[in-house]
Amino acid sequence: MLVRSMLITEISRPDLPDWDRHEKVIHARDHDTGLDAIIAVHNTRLGPGLGGCRFHRYPDFDAALTDALRLSRGMTYKNAMAGLALGGGKSVIIGNGRDMRGAEREKLMLAMGAAVQSLGGKYVAAEDMHTNEHDMGVMRGVTPYVCGLPAAQRKGVGGNPSPLTARGVLRAIEVAVGGSLSGLKVAVQGAGSVGYALCGLLHKAGAQLWVSDMHDEATRRCRDDFGAVVVPTGDIYSAPVDLFAPCAMGAILNDQTIPVLRARMVVGAANNQLAQARHADALAARGILYAPDYIANAGGVIFVGCEYLGAVDEAAVVAQVDRIGETLREVFDFAAEKQITSAAAADELARARFSAK
Ligand code: NAD
Repeated sequence: MLVRSMLITEISRPDLPDWDRHEKVIHARDHDTGLDAIIAVHNTRLGPGLGGCRFHRYPDFDAALTDALRLSRGMTYKNAMAGLALGGGKSVIIGNGRDMRGAEREKLMLAMGAAVQSLGGKYVAAEDMHTNEHDMGVMRGVTPYVCGLPAAQRKGVGGNPSPLTARGVLRAIEVAVGGSLSGLKVAVQGAGSVGYALCGLLHKAGAQLWVSDMHDEATRRCRDDFGAVVVPTGDIYSAPVDLFAPCAMGAILNDQTIPVLRARMVVGAANNQLAQARHADALAARGILYAPDYIANAGGVIFVGCEYLGAVDEAAVVAQVDRIGETLREVFDFAAEKQITSAAAADELARARFSAK
């Protein structure tokens, strides 16, 4: 299929381990702008597949495809458990998203918008790694299937999702702890947008904080504002705390870190915290309660999803974020009943939601 100077071809690779019955995957190439992108739509039973559009260099095409497939499948599970009438999708633009600027970037985003439009609403784009609000605004010029828009281009709720992500993590922490947070000792890894906001909420609830970040300025803010103890990045896993809140990067629950964790609970905002699925068992074997990442960190996607679905009542969106606590309780109860890990329980409950309709 040709859209202006663009060639769009359908990809079918059921041989790949991450394929998992994806509904539609396309490769979009545009000679004029240099666009080279993949859009993966995993499942649309609950609604259009919403997921971020990342702009990233990959070692080769298969690495980009694998990333798109893995992430789009993850969005199906996350959106289903977030209670959104949305399915799962993801897109990747292959290239240097960190450095490309100006007119060159805008033309590329228009081409990407045309690629999104070619799917007729099966996929909805949002900002992600190395894309931003402005990029989404440019794409909006050629397709309505985009959210995370600049203020001037949206009609209802919207904006920075990080505070609501932090709020959702707090609700999850309350459920994991099962009582007052006063005096709770929490180690927060990463004091960025979500981590800093979470520190503020925990401090207000009376928790004691340990923080680490690559940037001294980020940890200094937490020390000055919330009395946090600053820990070198490598020492955060063994901090003497009750709860570990990963809010930096993925794969931090692995063979090296799980044995040294002193926390009895892990609840945080980072995506893909488990290096491999088996690490859920490793946590359980140590008696560490794990809140599945995509349940705890769903506040952001709830916010962005509600923006796309046209929500105007911010209080209703906040109430939906607050329901993360109930969802996590359901996951823990189901795990206990079935004698499976919380990660397996979340996946099973999600599958029931997006397969049942
Ligand atoms: P951010 O970039 O604002 O903050 C991340 C922070 O982690 C930065 O300050 C960075 O310096 C720090 N960091 C990086 N490597 C570190 C390390 N090894 N040790 C300690 N600190 C390190 O990002 P964010 O928006 O706060 O998101 C944090 C995590 O939560 C990411 O994994 C993101 O994918 C996930 N998440 C974010 C949202 C959201 O609404 N922003 C929603 C869902 C999930």
